[in-house]
Amino acid sequence: EAPLLEVCDLQAVYDSPRGPVHALNGVSFSVRAGEVLALVGESGSGKSATAFAIMGLLPRTNGRIIAGQVLFEQRDLLRLSERQLRALRGDEIALVFQNPMTTLNPTLTIGAQLREVIRQHTGVSRRAADARAVELLGLVEIPDPAARLKSYPHQLSGGLRQRVMIALALSCDPKLLIADEATTALDVTTQAQVLRLLKRVTAKLGTAMVVITHSMGVVAGLADRVAVMYAGRIVEIGDVEEIFYTARHPYTVGLLGAIPRMDTPRSQELVSIEGRPPSLLALPAGCPFADRCRHVMDRCTTEAPAPVSPARHTAACWADPEDVRAGMAEPVSVAA
Ligand code: ATP
Ligand code: MG
Repeated sequence: EAPLLEVCDLQAVYDSPRGPVHALNGVSFSVRAGEVLALVGESGSGKSATAFAIMGLLPRTNGRIIAGQVLFEQRDLLRLSERQLRALRGDEIALVFQNPMTTLNPTLTIGAQLREVIRQHTGVSRRAADARAVELLGLVEIPDPAARLKSYPHQLSGGLRQRVMIALALSCDPKLLIADEATTALDVTTQAQVLRLLKRVTAKLGTAMVVITHSMGVVAGLADRVAVMYAGRIVEIGDVEEIFYTARHPYTVGLLGAIPRMDTPRSQELVSIEGRPPSLLALPAGCPFADRCRHVMDRCTTEAPAPVSPARHTAACWADPEDVRAGMAEPVSVAA
């Protein structure tokens, strides 16, 4: 059976005064119906650019897709008109963003916002839309949903606002939900709760999900598959157990070593891999991770490893997977 979403060799740039920023350099992955894929990587690795490119939301002013394909149910999204894309967004693919306060309208009640989205997409009566809104708030486990319709966003806690965002995203029963760091504005405990909720709700509805995050810790217990991004590439992809127990890329091993404990502050999350990613203005000839890698060999600096094959557990790396695995600390439990 064909995947729900298939991204093939996607390449995109942002034009900048200093030249094109090569944000995506041949990204390929697929998501099957109902599956949860986590897209993990450090800041600037191209996670949001991937989401934007898929949704036709790269900034018009300076964002450009230069190659590749995005197939959603076999339809090539890169060939759709703006109008067709707009119909697709929300209806079939929904996005949940980082900060709920930027997406919720502060001047409208929760009920009014839900009703508007529901009516836009389904054209049902006001009363039917209200009933659906209550149902959705119940689905995302907001207590006393009928009363909450009258609340304004600022009257809700961060966690509740996030739930409202999820309800909005799910209001049109999308086949795919893309959650881009949906929870970083929240404290770690609330974050974990919201993600577990997202997992429960999408599992119940059969919605496929792409979860975008910095943290491998978030991935455990949430994702079926994991794609690790670095410098605009996927450097490793595989089932969650394969990534956690038999990682093949030194960068993945580094990220696994950086898993924060629930009681450590965010600032300590990602300090364990030394060095910085290369400039996306001028990418190195070989592997982009070479200068940070413990397993670097001569060929790594001259010859780029082959891209991953999305359907299997693969890594874009020249090193012997046995050597890489030997460098892993104690395996981390996948059950969150
Ligand atoms: P984060 O975890 O911080 O959200 P990310 O993985 O989502 O990071 P992207 O936002 O996809 O990273 O950015 C990829 C690269 O593109 C980065 O180097 C970033 O600086 C650059 N970039 C992003 N948006 C723009 C823009 N509008 N103009 C120019 N460069 C941009
Ligand atoms: Mg981002």
